[in-house]
Amino acid sequence: MPGERARVIVMNSALGPLDYRVPAGMRVEPGSVVVAPLGPRQLLGVAWDADRLATEEVGDNRLRNLIAVADVPPLPTPLRRLIEWTADYYLAPLAGVVRMALPSSSALEGAKLAIEYRATGHVPDRLTPQRAQALERIGDRQGLVRELAAIADVSDAVIRGLVKAGAIEAVEVDVDLPYSAPDPDYAPPNLSPEQAGVSATLRGAVAGAAFQPFLLDGVTGSGKTETYFEAVAEAIRMDRQTLVLLPEIALTEPFLKRFHARFGCEPVAWHSGLRQSQRRRAWRAIASGDAKVVVGARSALFLPYPKLGLIVVDEAHETSFKQEDGVHYHARDVAVMRGMFEGCPVVLATATPAIETRHQVALGRYAELKLPGRYGAAEMPAIEAIDLLRDPPPRGRWIAPTLTRAIDATLERGEQALLFLNRRGYAPLTLCRHCGHRFQCPNCTAWMVEHRLIRRLACHHCGHVMPTPRACPECGEEESLVACGPGVERIADEAAALWPDARIAIVTSDTIWSPAKAAEFVARMEHREIDIVVGTQLVTKGYHFPDLTLVGVIDADLGLAGGDLRAAERSFQQIMQVAGRAGRGTKPGHVYIQTHDPKAPVMQALVSGDAESFYEAETEARQEADAPPFGRFAAIIVSSEDKDAAHDTARAIGRAAPRVEGMDVFGPAPAPLAMLRGRHRFRLLVHARRVFPVQEAIRDWLGGVDWPAKVRVAVDVDPYSFV
Ligand code: ADP
Ligand code: ZN
Repeated sequence: MPGERARVIVMNSALGPLDYRVPAGMRVEPGSVVVAPLGPRQLLGVAWDADRLATEEVGDNRLRNLIAVADVPPLPTPLRRLIEWTADYYLAPLAGVVRMALPSSSALEGAKLAIEYRATGHVPDRLTPQRAQALERIGDRQGLVRELAAIADVSDAVIRGLVKAGAIEAVEVDVDLPYSAPDPDYAPPNLSPEQAGVSATLRGAVAGAAFQPFLLDGVTGSGKTETYFEAVAEAIRMDRQTLVLLPEIALTEPFLKRFHARFGCEPVAWHSGLRQSQRRRAWRAIASGDAKVVVGARSALFLPYPKLGLIVVDEAHETSFKQEDGVHYHARDVAVMRGMFEGCPVVLATATPAIETRHQVALGRYAELKLPGRYGAAEMPAIEAIDLLRDPPPRGRWIAPTLTRAIDATLERGEQALLFLNRRGYAPLTLCRHCGHRFQCPNCTAWMVEHRLIRRLACHHCGHVMPTPRACPECGEEESLVACGPGVERIADEAAALWPDARIAIVTSDTIWSPAKAAEFVARMEHREIDIVVGTQLVTKGYHFPDLTLVGVIDADLGLAGGDLRAAERSFQQIMQVAGRAGRGTKPGHVYIQTHDPKAPVMQALVSGDAESFYEAETEARQEADAPPFGRFAAIIVSSEDKDAAHDTARAIGRAAPRVEGMDVFGPAPAPLAMLRGRHRFRLLVHARRVFPVQEAIRDWLGGVDWPAKVRVAVDVDPYSFV
């Protein structure tokens, strides 16, 4: 009888689906979020379509009762199909994928009011240094005791002490406060004829409410955002929801502002920086359909929108859409699948499409829409290469004379300059001049990177930090440490020495670690409080600063080192994107790229602006190597704190590899990052023909191998990282 039994995916990746009894009076349907007993524990779970999941037959008498069903809408059918597809394609446990659709358990509880804390403005007479630090860092922020303690980097007890002292007070928050509804006719733009053509197509697709992927290929500054906003407006008019995915939470803040200007209120934001109460509020509004437009990082992709009418993936070429831990998935590709299950258009917007995406266009699966010129009077910037062999910077410096002169002239005109180097910190390597000792991370096969601003050495892989020592720990020599090579901090020092009056800002994930910090940076740029920005890839995307007219790429060869399959493509995209920050207003932009190899095809393509032949050559090379998008790869990463155990397992997996036509297995070999976060790593690489059912083969293969619990085996289908 229906309703008596429920098949449930419980939130434990080691378990398959389990059957439970639905007690009388409880209503459970596929998608219902439930609480289920497991041994002595209670676990969150989701009831599933029983006919789609096999499980062991369990007699009625052995079934346990479900404990509760959450008062939230069931996960919609298209989302359940997407979750199944994702688990299947990426060889991930269903529970791991379902978890991404669920909020924290607090969003499921009934209470409408949360208690949060904020500063009262009253500062007690005598403050311990910890309390003073807490008040200073918290500023006007609000949150749970635990959240404030994390912001202030103090213990919970310090915050509670401040509450007792009257410096911090409790406030009630209505966590289910409705969001304002965006107004599609609030401030529509006057579109150029090209933009109008593209937007008409997109609006038509939204109105048609059918699956259709689009590549919106428009140069930087062509008005892609402006144009797809018209499709968003159409979805709002039709009372359908829109999801806009951004590659980086730092981009959320400028997006919110633009959206506000166009639609009269902010959209609902979803990212890792949300407080618990904000997360609950957003999740509930999304699940009820009240949240009309949601902008978020890739984690927003699996939320339970009941009536999705449009998905936009902005900066769709960005590799940060690829998730590298937990479930390894590519948000761009999953977004297209979600559009298919929902029956709605999906727009991939970018100035530098991925070769994979171009290939889908060539196959006729994605429709291509082009915006070939910048909006209004803005012209594309001129790009010039600086040959570092002929025009080298002075010894121990990194800015070549030509670039120095160009910055002189830019500052004289009162305009802004951007120096791009994709390397955080002061120097990538620190060593002892006396004995040659190098600082290595104790947990990773990686050098510690000096961060001079905070006087620390940091590992960029695991986050391990230590104070920069005065003396070499190996030979004891004092003041003997030397920095090798540049990071952004060192370039900023060089710039400060060259232009002592210029106001310089460093923009990296170390300085812009929250949407609020990003907003502060944007405001300082707009108010012309910054003359020179020195930044990593974080500044390459999305920003629009009309007075920024000069871009200098410090080391254009950097991305080509390492030489993975996408190195040239990625370098091209990254430099095109950073170049795209120059001259977006009425003043012309100029870009200099410093390279040791100006004849390299990437450099030539950048300088000539001939992206087409570069892409063609790259695509051809991929085809010859049977690399993606023509063939496919999957990586199997075996790791353990116990090196021998990892090695043995990797070898056992290698020995069990199926020998079949259409699939080759390479390895195991120690991973280039042989140790990461204290775990030893070995890799196998699977190379298969496009049509070969590689997931099935790997599932069967790994299903036949056993390994100890201390060994982790991760599968990365369509990998982007080969370390
Ligand atoms: P892209 O996303 O292609 O880089 P944007 O959408 O950011 O381009 O547009 C670049 C700049 O031009 C933005 O400041 C935007 O507001 C402006 N712009 C583009 N199209 C229009 C338009 N039709 N009317 C007014 N401003 C526009
Ligand atoms: Zn490390």
